[in-house]
Amino acid sequence: MTTANLLDFDLEGLAAFCEKLGEKKFRATQLYRWIHQRGASDFTQMTDLAKSLREKLATTARVEALPVITQHESKDGTIKWLFDVGDGNAVEAVFIPEDDRGTLCVSSQAGCAVGCRFCSTGHQGFSRNLGTGEIVAQLWFAEHFLRKHLKRDERVISNVVMMGMGEPLQNYSALVPALRTMLDDNAYGLSRRRVTVSTSGVVPMIDRLGADCPVALAVSLHAPNDPLRDDLVPLNRKYPIDELIEACKRYLAHAPRDFITFEYCMLDGVNDQPEHARQLVDLVRKHGISCKFNLIPFNPFPASGLLRSPQPRVLAFARTLSEAGLVTTVRKTRGDDIDAACGQLAGDVKDRTRAAERMAQRRAAEQRPVVLHPVRKTKTVSQEH
Ligand code: SAH
Ligand code: SF4
Repeated sequence: MTTANLLDFDLEGLAAFCEKLGEKKFRATQLYRWIHQRGASDFTQMTDLAKSLREKLATTARVEALPVITQHESKDGTIKWLFDVGDGNAVEAVFIPEDDRGTLCVSSQAGCAVGCRFCSTGHQGFSRNLGTGEIVAQLWFAEHFLRKHLKRDERVISNVVMMGMGEPLQNYSALVPALRTMLDDNAYGLSRRRVTVSTSGVVPMIDRLGADCPVALAVSLHAPNDPLRDDLVPLNRKYPIDELIEACKRYLAHAPRDFITFEYCMLDGVNDQPEHARQLVDLVRKHGISCKFNLIPFNPFPASGLLRSPQPRVLAFARTLSEAGLVTTVRKTRGDDIDAACGQLAGDVKDRTRAAERMAQRRAAEQRPVVLHPVRKTKTVSQEH
């Protein structure tokens, strides 16, 4: 008999499952707390649940984590996991510690169908959507691993960014229950402001997210005009910039923050010229959208044929935006080994041929020196609005 993976359920789903077992709804809350607050996966540990319920759970349910293929830890505490999601597919999650927060970057799909030119996940193509349980499993594992690893009793992960592999809004039905579990006080209890969905611009789903489960929104803009964005982010041909920004404005009516973050990956000679910065200012003014810009130094990979913008050009671009009153941050780079977390998670994946081969090479890989991923600090260029 197949059993239900309880990581697939938000609290409402778990209550429905418990009811089917003939159990009172409040039992679901107890069970949910055991799983997410205490990291339990063994029903026999859950001593305050009635023995009859524990017995029923033993035959009908499971708490199934994702197998870890590799774990890389840098000197500064950044940890990156590669998880096996079956059939030769793997996804990554990254923990980024900072002084005042701990951020987990989470994947939503194996591969991605959007196919952005500068993105290694996009170059990989699309394998499949992750299930709710596979999205939640990344947080469940990381949080409880880190508590043990760092010997902390209290919560370690305070922020989640859906900036790993995949387009979260193209996996909407799995995403929303996963977000609910992140937010639920009986599970991870994260603030809505500290859970960020990053999207390449799936307009109808931005509206649905605003209605169903508003969290902080980051939009991967990357270009100030449609011809350029059509080329970099093919989804733009379906949902052009003006429609996207109007959707962002509608989202702000529901959003936990009063701005949208626009991510802008700086590509040498492609979207980093002074006129692009000026066009962005005009675009934002035309729509009157409350926003912040986050300029991301491109993490190059050979198949893209693209290069990172030189730092002086990035700073000049940032200056143009900030002098026009737009709050702009630049992700700081450190030497050559830069910006290895969100957005480039698939960077390593795409350079590997197939996940299955990687898994076979896993032991050997573990013998090699660990790849260090520095914590990305952001540098505020301007704070005026
Ligand atoms: N699909 C979603 C979320 C995952 S990508 C989205 O596109 O928003 C997360 C962020 O990393 C996006 O802003 C994406 O544009 C950026 N990114 C992707 N590849 C990158 C690369 N090679 N260098 C720098 N940023 C990259
Ligand atoms: Fe997909 Fe985002 Fe990569 Fe584009 S940037 S291919 S939407 S993961």
